Amino acid sequence: MRIERPKGTRDFLPDEMERRREIEKVMRQIAESYGYREISTPTFEHLELFTIKSGEGIVEEIYAFKDKGDRDLALRPELTAPVMRMFVNECSVMPRPLRFYYFSNCFRYENPQKGRYREFWQFGVELIGSGSYLADLEVILLAYRILKELGINFELNIGHVGLLRELLKDLSEERVRKIMRFIDKKDFESLERFLEENDLMDYYDDIKTLISMKGRKEVIENAREVLPDFDFGYIESVAMGLERLEVDFNLDFSIVRGLDYYTGVVFEIYAVEGLGAQNQICGGGSYRLTHLFGGGDVPSTGFAIGFDRVAEICSVKSEKAERIVVACTPGMELNALRIAENLREKGLVVYTDVMERGLKKQLSFANTVNARFAVIVAEREYEKGVVLVKDMESGEQREVPKSSILEYFGL
Ligand code: ATP
Ligand code: MG
Repeated sequence: MRIERPKGTRDFLPDEMERRREIEKVMRQIAESYGYREISTPTFEHLELFTIKSGEGIVEEIYAFKDKGDRDLALRPELTAPVMRMFVNECSVMPRPLRFYYFSNCFRYENPQKGRYREFWQFGVELIGSGSYLADLEVILLAYRILKELGINFELNIGHVGLLRELLKDLSEERVRKIMRFIDKKDFESLERFLEENDLMDYYDDIKTLISMKGRKEVIENAREVLPDFDFGYIESVAMGLERLEVDFNLDFSIVRGLDYYTGVVFEIYAVEGLGAQNQICGGGSYRLTHLFGGGDVPSTGFAIGFDRVAEICSVKSEKAERIVVACTPGMELNALRIAENLREKGLVVYTDVMERGLKKQLSFANTVNARFAVIVAEREYEKGVVLVKDMESGEQREVPKSSILEYFGL
């Protein structure tokens, strides 16, 4: 019986895996250069961790299940809530700020399509303990640097959920949440219908005006006219900081993010080409979550990069180490293995035969794995103290004393 993989999952073959690792390496290196250190949390958590703020509605989107002890669990759909749970449980007395990064798989019950999977990977950071604009600045800068370093053509859009929250401050939390969801999904028809049905059309014009504002710092002036009492100082500082750091961005007050825990500056990064509709490659912002998990009120900022979408459009190539095949005539296997071991110790990638094939077949295998050289351990030569080294590109073959193989390869 042929068994297919589950819908929305993928297999990664070695070439693809090497490329993904290369991209991951760049992300790790840059995050580490800003002082972020890696953490890891469980693949599954109590379902409550994800519903506590977003409500039961989110259960539709996640892999939730009961275990044999009748506990409600869920495969993590994202990592911010798990990291903050970990922070409250394990790190709340550590000196702040804390800088964590993660590279982990997430699971969502989505409708699979290009760039949208049921298992996917996120590379993200959380900067915990600061409510300063400098924290937002650092996190935005870090996301920007990573994507620049990977050579991606993207657009950075920055908003502030405080504006809409201020505008809607007399409405219930539930209504605000609904309105924000429609705006996040850019579903303006449903938004209008919802406002109509709930007798909220008075808000329509101001919402529309705010969320259509997009541009550089000047949009702050326009927003002030809609919200004269709102303190724009914070978003202004972030915008000014980014300009000083020569980061390209737009302010866009329609950016509100799908999850409910964001409180301040929020941002989204879109790929300009190569991804079609699923072009959001990063989302982030400042949020408050710890008080929900039994901690104090700890302001934090973070982002999550959609690793699979980035990998899809990123042209980074993996650097392949040079490969060598140590081939031999029958009876010479263990001598060949010893030579292979010496070369591996020096960092080379070395294949030896495990199929008990003849020399000729071993050499054609060397071609299939793109070996640069073949070291041939043939009985007659070996007894004279030499092996043959064959250059697989030129076909040239040379006798090399056994004792100087390492030197021959410059090791
Ligand atoms: P979208 O609106 O595309 O569903 P989102 O707002 O739900 O994204 P976040 O929760 O902010 O996404 O996750 C951060 C990033 O993770 C997204 O910007 C995206 O690149 C990536 N991502 C989210 N869901 C998926 C998925 N199902 N498959 C692949 N990547 C995903
Ligand atoms: Mg989504």
